[in-house]
Amino acid sequence: MPHSTLPTRESLREVRYDIRGELSRRARELEGQGRQLIRLNIGNPGAFGFRAPDHLQQALSAHVAESDAYTHQQGLPLAREVVAAAHRGRGTPNACAERVFVGNGVSELIDMSLRALLNPGDEVLLPSPDYPLWSAATILNQGRPVYYRCAPENGFLPDPDEIEKLVTPRTRALVVINPNNPTGANYPPALLQRLVDIAARHDLLLMADEIYDGITYDDAAFTALAPLAGDVPCLSFGGLSKVWRACGWRVGWAVLSGDPLRVGDFHHALDLLSAMRLCANVPGQFAVPAALQGPETIRALTVPGGRLFESRQAVIDGCEASDHLALVAPMGALYAFPQVVGPAAEGFDDQAFALELLENEDVLVVPGSGFNVPGSRHFRITLLPEAPTVREVFARIDRVLDARAGR
Ligand code: PLP
Repeated sequence: MPHSTLPTRESLREVRYDIRGELSRRARELEGQGRQLIRLNIGNPGAFGFRAPDHLQQALSAHVAESDAYTHQQGLPLAREVVAAAHRGRGTPNACAERVFVGNGVSELIDMSLRALLNPGDEVLLPSPDYPLWSAATILNQGRPVYYRCAPENGFLPDPDEIEKLVTPRTRALVVINPNNPTGANYPPALLQRLVDIAARHDLLLMADEIYDGITYDDAAFTALAPLAGDVPCLSFGGLSKVWRACGWRVGWAVLSGDPLRVGDFHHALDLLSAMRLCANVPGQFAVPAALQGPETIRALTVPGGRLFESRQAVIDGCEASDHLALVAPMGALYAFPQVVGPAAEGFDDQAFALELLENEDVLVVPGSGFNVPGSRHFRITLLPEAPTVREVFARIDRVLDARAGR
């Protein structure tokens, strides 16, 4: 008797996560054949030789013996107190431990919060380009992504008037990724205030993905959304993965703010979903007080002489020196999103380009269409490799684009 194959969730067909998609599988095959690849597809500091700061490592290992039991579903009380205090310190009104949710990375909390919020057919306003987990989690939780464009002509900043036109009676949330992955845009306070005003006018939940909140360059300063939002319900996401270079520890948090009367049952829904997955990874939670109360260590990397600053500069120089690339300089986060321009861009297919770069030049990037930008001529690279590697990468990219431009 032939067996039928197992079913899978139909909406998965609409979901893409190209950061670890087909090209990554091909990359593993090539590595299996002995090829040495330069992998620029994942913002994974540990894979590029970065370490979590010593005081975090010490906090983690010092508490292993106390980590056997589940914690409270929302997280260790001390970790939540410290997150709440940090958010009060930056001006989030009434941040308190009861409104902090610790998760296995921000990834889990994004999924959990959309699951808590959405009913079938509800709409979520997402940036395009986006960090594709946001689209995926919206779709898998039966919502519908509605994209607002962040165009390179506008420094990858959104146009609030355009966003407001996209609001319908089904819109439930406005997602803001700042500093932005994949574009590196850092949103100014006046723009953020206008996004708050839209959420206020239409009773939307603001979802502020601020996982890169300590990573800005030049004179750019990060502005948190929740302090501007005041009474407007806002869920702000942060974590240890990027600013503290501890992706593998799987620790993130979400802080709920806004008038409790407007937040309503959503708070309870988040608590219930937290309870159903018992708790977040416990040893990692013990590092949260060390992170938020200990010395700040990211800034040294993002100022001149710092490793991230120098790599970013090498990306900017590489794009400037190329006849085929245009770049909006990243002002925050760990990525650049260059655009292919000129003759090399004619008939451009970003997937084919990325595959060619991998097959011919051993460089792995993510095509722009992986960030929900239709017809993209962009690709994303991470700023994590050292500057000499970045320079080598741009020489290889230029070889591929020269050939495409018929040189
Ligand atoms: N949000 C953004 C914008 C990201 O870039 C990432 C990871 O790259 C995440 C969330 C998820 O981070 P984690 O689950 O490691 O906390």
